[in-house]
Amino acid sequence: MIYEVIVDISNGEVDRVFDYSSDKEFPVGCRVKVPFGNRVLEGFVFNTKETSKVKTKEIIERLDDFVAISPEMLSLAKELNKNNNLRIVDILRLCIPSKLRGGKVKELKRGFITLCMPAEEGVKLIRKNAQTQLELINKLKSGGEYESVLNSQFNPSSVKALIEKGIAKREYIKIARTPHKGMVGKSKEITLTAQQKNAVDTIMNNDGVFLLHGVTGSGKTEVYMAVISEIIKQGKTAIMLVPEISLTPQMLSVFRERFGNRVGLMHSALSDGERFDEWLRLLKGEAVIALGARSAIFAPLQNVGAIIIDEEHDTSYISESNPRYFTEDIAKYRTKYNNCKLILGSATPSLGTYQKAKDKEYTLITLNKRVNHREMPDMEIIDMRQEVRAGNNNIFSRKLLLELEHTIKSGNQVMLFINRRGFSSFVRCRQCGYIPVCQSCDISLTYHKDDNQLKCHYCGQQYYMLTECPKCHSAHLAKGRIGTERVVEEVQKLFPEVKVLRMDFDTTSSKDSYAEILSAFGRKEAQVLVGTQMIVKGHDFKDVTLVGVLDADLSLYFSDFRSNENTYQIITQVAGRAGREKKAGKVVIQTYNPHHYVFRFAKNYDYLGFFDKESNIRETTKFPPYSKIVRILIRSKDEEKALIAARKCYNLMRELKPEQKEIFRVKAMRAPLKKLRSEYRFQVVVWIEKDGDNEALKKLYEIAAKISEKNVVTFVEINPTQMT
Ligand code: ADP
Ligand code: ZN
Ligand code: ZN
Repeated sequence: MIYEVIVDISNGEVDRVFDYSSDKEFPVGCRVKVPFGNRVLEGFVFNTKETSKVKTKEIIERLDDFVAISPEMLSLAKELNKNNNLRIVDILRLCIPSKLRGGKVKELKRGFITLCMPAEEGVKLIRKNAQTQLELINKLKSGGEYESVLNSQFNPSSVKALIEKGIAKREYIKIARTPHKGMVGKSKEITLTAQQKNAVDTIMNNDGVFLLHGVTGSGKTEVYMAVISEIIKQGKTAIMLVPEISLTPQMLSVFRERFGNRVGLMHSALSDGERFDEWLRLLKGEAVIALGARSAIFAPLQNVGAIIIDEEHDTSYISESNPRYFTEDIAKYRTKYNNCKLILGSATPSLGTYQKAKDKEYTLITLNKRVNHREMPDMEIIDMRQEVRAGNNNIFSRKLLLELEHTIKSGNQVMLFINRRGFSSFVRCRQCGYIPVCQSCDISLTYHKDDNQLKCHYCGQQYYMLTECPKCHSAHLAKGRIGTERVVEEVQKLFPEVKVLRMDFDTTSSKDSYAEILSAFGRKEAQVLVGTQMIVKGHDFKDVTLVGVLDADLSLYFSDFRSNENTYQIITQVAGRAGREKKAGKVVIQTYNPHHYVFRFAKNYDYLGFFDKESNIRETTKFPPYSKIVRILIRSKDEEKALIAARKCYNLMRELKPEQKEIFRVKAMRAPLKKLRSEYRFQVVVWIEKDGDNEALKKLYEIAAKISEKNVVTFVEINPTQMT
């Protein structure tokens, strides 16, 4: 038999199948060891056939006693290779735990020792003075024991001696490494509300894609679990995706409580062993629900009945590094393959998703009430320009300070949120709030310290740095932003007796620190939690009655066409943290731009109002979802070479324009990060009509491939979330 094998090495030129032969049987999708040149490599059996046109080598051996890649995932890899220009081997790697490659992780097995004859007969076979062996036999008389336990209680040589004499035997028993073992929630009797029940019924009685648009605290998770419950009753499996950051211990315990060990966890914070065991349980069908972040969309489940993407608008569902993919694309593929349901849930759906629901492409389900009819917290927008004028240069407005005092005195808890994204910073007039924007894109300009210029990250236009505000002529121009440490210091200064916790990228570097900080806050070990994006999502703290957003503008003026959308999402999510249980919540938003429509709509929890307004703007300016923006990033250690390639790319794209009508704009420029890891970076940005077919895209991929050469790397991104 001839086997087509995908060899597991990362190199553009070998992403194709190689023929190998063997008279042994190898199932398609299993991993094998093969000779490759003068090396021995791992590979995936991709296909079988009768004959080969080339001289073939023999497969050396099969690697695992399971089939790592299902037919579904093999066909997914083919599809992504064809349509998204991804390499097959890169996709297959996403389908297995990384440490399986190279055999760096195995099933954990422990030796278990039992007697294989009656104890009295065993005693006859040992020497008279072998006291330890005698004790061992007596111990084993009452039942088997793990070898490691016996080794420490007695000694390894005595255990070995009994085995060698045939008195005892060793068996290997598989041990599953269970992540976060202790994490099982308290059982909570819940009766679904009428809205929740309606949502579950709609999903169960229909097919296709659903948008579950539910305000924060409307109980979306209960809907997901009820659906999953039905699905597994039908003997099918389910994939539950949440943003990395909201895969909290709380979330996990809720699922464990409901579904026990039928949940398989896929999370980057697991140890290699845990990750492998959980993956294997899913592969073998011992676990039927994959719960995890983005990468769990590649869960080795078969017969999938439902895929759920919670907080579907979250940008963490986009893989930014190679292989670059949109989780939703993969989810849609698996939905089609399994003929199952896809549920997208959010309080603040992305514009593209909501548009599809409006167009009836998706079934729209709305949960507009919080469970137990709690009110949405009252939101107040504070004009920071007024604070400056009134002589308050503190990071807290007078109002927020008042609320802080009040909340701390009453013994309740506070969350203070500051936004931090990307590397860039914008410039703002402290007097009137003016922020310079690009004249052709209407997107805020980014300040570049190295050449003291303002730049547009979309079209590349450059502007002189301002010396005074063009609107009010003030010279009070602020660059940069506030950090979490600074906020903690301020709180501590004002309230020395209050305990404050900080959560940001720096304080959550270790595996469990994220969970530790949250649970400490949950146990009320601190009254104030200061944090970045990380504190926004999915947490349910019953005593949080005040949420402060210190500088809402930082996301508004991030130079990205999604800024308004992201700001609306963040504010809504943060606000959703307040007053979740019985106590009423209060939200204070500080901004230099209080009349911006984002705040107006957010304050009233008016998603539809926001959607209409923002959609309109995107349509006029032809930004996604009313177009596709494709960026071709060109990198090289040799600046000259990168520049030549970028020019060539730009010219080829321009030539393409007349023939590919859906391409309507082409720009070339240095990338915002001009140099990274000693590579020079250029970009060509191409706008494509939203309804354009994939033909133009295919041509772009071809051009990108054509201009990449020795020492020049090209990378194509569709609707990049961060133009860095
Ligand atoms: P969302 O994800 O929509 O913000 P959650 O699913 O986190 O909301 O639910 C918020 C809280 O309400 C959770 O503590 C949850 O246990 C509780 N809850 C959800 N549904 C019900 C219900 N039908 N009855 C009582 N409590 C509920
Ligand atoms: Zn000004
Ligand atoms: Zn511009």
